[in-house]
Amino acid sequence: TAPGQIRNFCIIAHIDHGKSTLADRMLQITGTVPDREMRAQYLDNMDIERERGITIKSQAVRMHWDVDGSAYALNMIDTPGHVDFSYEVSRSLAACEGAILLVDAAQGIEAQTLANLYLAMENDLEIIPVLNKIDLPAADPERVAREIADLIGGDPDDILKVSGKTGMGVEELLDRVVARVPAPTGAAEAPARAMIFDSVYDPYRGVVTYVRMVDGRLAPREKILMMSTGAEHEALEIGVSSPGPTPTKGLAVGEVGYLITGVKDVRQSKVGDTVTGKQRSASEALPGYTDPKPMVFSGLYPIDGSDYPVLREALDKLKLSDAALQYEPETSVALGFGFRCGFLGLLHLEIISERLRREFDLDLIATAPSVIYQVTREDGLDVTVTNPSEYPDGKIASVREPMVRVAILAPKDYVGTIMELCQSRRGSLLGMEYLGERVELRYAMPLGEIVFDFFDHLKSRTQGYASLDYEPMGEQEADLVKVDILLQGDKVDAFSAIVHRDSAYHYGTMMAERLRKLIPRQQFEVPIQAAIGSRVIARETIRAIRKDVLAKCYGGDISRKRKLLEKQKEGKKRMKMVGRVEVPQEAFIAALSGD
Ligand code: GDP
Ligand code: MG
Repeated sequence: TAPGQIRNFCIIAHIDHGKSTLADRMLQITGTVPDREMRAQYLDNMDIERERGITIKSQAVRMHWDVDGSAYALNMIDTPGHVDFSYEVSRSLAACEGAILLVDAAQGIEAQTLANLYLAMENDLEIIPVLNKIDLPAADPERVAREIADLIGGDPDDILKVSGKTGMGVEELLDRVVARVPAPTGAAEAPARAMIFDSVYDPYRGVVTYVRMVDGRLAPREKILMMSTGAEHEALEIGVSSPGPTPTKGLAVGEVGYLITGVKDVRQSKVGDTVTGKQRSASEALPGYTDPKPMVFSGLYPIDGSDYPVLREALDKLKLSDAALQYEPETSVALGFGFRCGFLGLLHLEIISERLRREFDLDLIATAPSVIYQVTREDGLDVTVTNPSEYPDGKIASVREPMVRVAILAPKDYVGTIMELCQSRRGSLLGMEYLGERVELRYAMPLGEIVFDFFDHLKSRTQGYASLDYEPMGEQEADLVKVDILLQGDKVDAFSAIVHRDSAYHYGTMMAERLRKLIPRQQFEVPIQAAIGSRVIARETIRAIRKDVLAKCYGGDISRKRKLLEKQKEGKKRMKMVGRVEVPQEAFIAALSGD
C-alpha cells in the first residue's frame, strides 16, 4: 500500500471506557471479522485479559476502509492501558500518527486518560477526541465534551459521539481517522528501519514480532539485524494481521505488520529495538530504546515445597513471552525455597502470580512487595538492595529510594481525604487542577509507599471514585531503616522490611502482635521482638504451655490416643523451625497476607 493510503492509529482510554468494544465494532463494520466469527473482546486473547477486562499485550490489526471511492489501509494498534506497561504504551504510540482519545460519556476523564494523552502528545500524535457509551442513560455528553475541550482545546460540539456497543457513530469515526490522521512519511528508498512495538511468544510459531516500518522495506528470506544487540536473524515470514496472520511479500515504508524469525524467546526481539537489513544496514537506530526495568520485587514461594521445580519451569516459560519478568532463586527460613522476582509494577506482579496459579496450578505465597534501595555504607561502598535481607549490616551513610510522580483524579469533594492519605505516605504536593467537577492532584511520593496497599486505601476513602497513575521520577535520600522480626532471638527473614524511621515502630508492633496471635504456644516462653539492628523497638511474648496431648484423653481407649499422636505427627510435617521454635507454615502465610 502506498503511504498516502495508510493510516496508523491507536485508541487510548482509561480502563473500562470501552476500547476493546469499540475495536470489536471497527473490525465488524470494516468487514475485517465476519459477523458469524465475531465474539466480544476479539483482540484480547489471554484468559486473564478477558476476565479482568484489561489489555496486557498490544496487537496490531489491518482493516480496509473506503472513503469517496478511495481505498485505505487502517492499522489499528491496541495499546495496554495500564501504567505498569507505560514503556510498551509509549512504543505502541510511537508506531502511530494519530490517536483516538476515547472517554466514557458517563464517567468523564480519568487518570489513565490523562497519562495516555500526555504520552500521545509527547509523540506528536494527532488526537481525535471521542465520547463513548452515549447509549447509556447516565451519559452526560455535554459535560464530558466540555471537560475534554478544556483539556485539549477545540470546540466541544466537534467531538464525535459514539457507542461501541450499538455501533452508532463508528462509521463517522473511521471517516474521521482517514481525514485527520496524517499519512506516514519516511524514506522509501533508505536502508530499512523498523521499530519493534510488540513481541509475542506463540507456542507454535515462536516469537512474533510486531513492527512499524519507518524507512525502507523488508522482504521475506532477508537477513535482518537487531540493532541494540547486533543479533542476526532471517525473516522467515513477513505479514500483516487482518486479524489472522496473513503472509505478504514484504512490508514497505509506513506499513505495520509482523516478522517471524524462528527465535524462541522475546528477549531476542525486544520492544523498542530497531530492525534493519543485513545487506544494507541503517547506520543509526531509531531513538527511544530502553530495557524494561523492574521496579517492584517480591519473593514467590510454593506453599507445597515439592512444587519448587514446577515453579521454576513455569517462570522459565512465562519469561519466553515477558521480557520484563526477572527472577532468581532465593531461600527463606520461614518459607523454604522460592524465587525473588522483579516486576514492572503491582499489576504486573498480580498478573504473573495469577498466571502461575491458573496456568500452572501452583499454590503460592508472596512476600510483601519492595522496591530498589541504593544504600551507601559509611566506608563508601554502594549496595543495591531489592530484598531487605541484602540490607548491609553496620553503619549506613545514606539510603536513596525511588520516587514517582503520582496523579490522582477524583470528584472534588474528596480532596481533603486524599491529601491526608498522601501526606501520611510521605507525599509532597506538586500541583492541583480542577477539571469541572473533578480535581487532579499531583504528588511526588516514594514508590515504596505506593506498592503497599495505597491503592486500596485510596479507593475506600473515595468510594471507588479516584483513579491513580504514576511515573518514575528518579530517586531521593530518605531516613530509612530495616526492621527485623525475631522469634526467640532468631530473625524471621520473610518479615524484615525497609521502612521510614517514623513508621518503624508501627510496623514492628503490628507484625509482633500478628505473630503472637498466630503462633501456637510452645513448651517454653517465646519472645517476639522487632528490632532495628540490635535495638529492640517492640516486644510481645507467647507464653509457655505444657503440651501433653495424651493427658487430654486420660482414660480413653488406646486407638484414640494413637490417632491423636498420628495427627500431631501429620501437623509437624508442615512445621517450620525458627531456632527452637516450631511454627506452622500457615501462621507465616497468614501473617504475610495480613489475614
Ligand atoms: P476497555 O477496558 O476500555 O477495553 O473496555 P471494554 O471494551 O472492555 O468495556 C468495558 C465495559 O463497558 C464492558 O462491560 C462493555 O460492555 C461496556 N461498554 C463498552 N462500550 C460501551 C457502550 O458504547 N455502551 C455501553 N452501554 N456499554 C459499553
Ligand atoms: Mg480492553
